[in-house]
Amino acid sequence: MENFKEILKEKNLKVSSARIRIMEKLAQPQVHYSAEELFQSLTTDLPGLSLATVYKNLEDMRLAGLLRLVQSANQIKKYEWERGDHFHLVSDNKITDLSDEQLFEKVRDLIAGALKDKFQVEGLDVQIFGRPLSASN
Ligand SMILES: [Zn+2]
Repeated sequence: MENFKEILKEKNLKVSSARIRIMEKLAQPQVHYSAEELFQSLTTDLPGLSLATVYKNLEDMRLAGLLRLVQSANQIKKYEWERGDHFHLVSDNKITDLSDEQLFEKVRDLIAGALKDKFQVEGLDVQIFGRPLSASN
């Protein structure tokens, strides 16, 4: 288990129970939550919490480099833990992380090559839309 208190201190962010609970939820693998979803899931345990506070905490942590924004198929902004370069497979309302370093590098090189002299590529945010195929047989 990561020490969320230490992570917040390192980033010069105020330590609060709301921030720690948000981090505990978002540090799980393959989770992408909107501010509303986090607010709904935390409001019972933290009755003083407001949606505005959840938004502010999420944005503070995103600006500090702890979280990243992902757009879902229905345009809802979801937050995820910053895990480095990866793709997002987006179907109806599900987002799946796809970590394939080799594929990511190939795509980045292709794009950087195509744009050379025009644009300095510093990062990619790739969303792949579609639907999962059955994994049986
Ligand atoms: Zn992701």
